[in-house]
Amino acid sequence: MTVKMALAALVVAACGFSRPAHAQAPPDLDPRIVGLVGQVSEARLVVLLKKLESFGTRNTLSSIDSPTRGIGAARQWIFDEMKSYSPRLQVTFDTYRIAKEGRITRDVEARNVMAVLPGRTPRRIYVSGHYDTIAIAGGQSGSNAGSRGRDGIVVTQPADPNAPNDSPAAGVNDDGSGTSLTMELARVFGQSGIDFDATLVFMCHVAEEQGLMGAKLHAQKAQKAHIPIEAVLNNDIVGNDRGGNGVVDGASIRVYSEGPEDSPSRELARFVQRWGMRYVPSHTVRPMARPDRFSRGGDHSAYNQYGFAAVGFRESRENFARQHDPQDTFDGLSPAYLAQNARVNAAVAATLALAPPAPGVLNDRGQANINRAPSGYDAHLAWTASPGASAYRIFWREAWGPDWQHELLVGNVTETTLPNTLIDDLVFGVAAVDAAGHESLVAPYLSPARDSSDVKTLP
Ligand SMILES: [Zn+2]
Repeated sequence: MTVKMALAALVVAACGFSRPAHAQAPPDLDPRIVGLVGQVSEARLVVLLKKLESFGTRNTLSSIDSPTRGIGAARQWIFDEMKSYSPRLQVTFDTYRIAKEGRITRDVEARNVMAVLPGRTPRRIYVSGHYDTIAIAGGQSGSNAGSRGRDGIVVTQPADPNAPNDSPAAGVNDDGSGTSLTMELARVFGQSGIDFDATLVFMCHVAEEQGLMGAKLHAQKAQKAHIPIEAVLNNDIVGNDRGGNGVVDGASIRVYSEGPEDSPSRELARFVQRWGMRYVPSHTVRPMARPDRFSRGGDHSAYNQYGFAAVGFRESRENFARQHDPQDTFDGLSPAYLAQNARVNAAVAATLALAPPAPGVLNDRGQANINRAPSGYDAHLAWTASPGASAYRIFWREAWGPDWQHELLVGNVTETTLPNTLIDDLVFGVAAVDAAGHESLVAPYLSPARDSSDVKTLP
């Protein structure tokens, strides 16, 4: 018996907890979520991808008055399509006027397209992608090979800066993949008949390619209005499993999140891995402990900037020659792979939206509610009750490592003690669980920041 196992056995014996500390029991899967995940349709994704491709370009600076080509036609189609899925979906344009600046070469009206599925509470879970596209000289391959940086890259555009840029930029993977995934989940959730606790938002961002502008504007507005966005699952380039170097991986997805190690976005990434892989065990979630790929960006970072938890889904293997290039067409997609990524998103968003909110772990002084009582060598954890919770699950791991190693379901209580357990050597967290087993994000117990003021000295 290892030391860890001995500790776990001791904890269970001493506290009378109902479940072993090692997470080997069958997961608590909700048949309604299993059914919802099963509704994700590869065939529907193909229809959406081909339609998105048909607009030729969805560049933020492309035509708005053509019925068939450019961003105006594309955004209206996304709006009408999502509206057609269910009367429960509230579909709107989230519109801004952006002034000429940087890669925005003229004043432009920019519209995110969002479908809201109201829940019983205002807390929000987002699934997102960006529907705008871009083609640059040399594509992403040129950028990788050391050509000029993004800001210096020559974009294929008309001589007159006020003319629409309608040069080919089909953007079927970047980010028709994330857009179609978001739209398909709007359909599946809108038609599910499930009454969710959280409000779900299916968001198609605009102007990502000019610097995450649509996402920044929306996140900034949400922060000012104190809208409780709990999680953003952003999908950008998630539809191809064949790397440009010939390596194929159709069985995993990367999930990027900004640190530090127990930041809200890292907890969200752990949640994606835990619940995504329980409902879609044939797909491996690979969390990445960094904000994004090198010198690349995505809309999840815009939400991070305004204080929201957000992660970025990225395909397992990229083909850079088909990014930011007219070659980003439907024949570079792997629809079966995209569907798997959509199922992972569906499982995670549904679990989060059915679960209670995470419990609070701060005391009235704003510090983590954890101490060594009563013996001085115990782990005593306290939290505030979460509405709708009927139990809580404690998680812990050694204080050098990314993944939770142990878990323990406790009853409907707001404190617990693990005897003879050193809080200095372990990281602890707690999640709320409802009667049906839906589990919230984990709220971690963090060390308070040290006083960093200088020592005053005498002259
Ligand atoms: Zn993109």
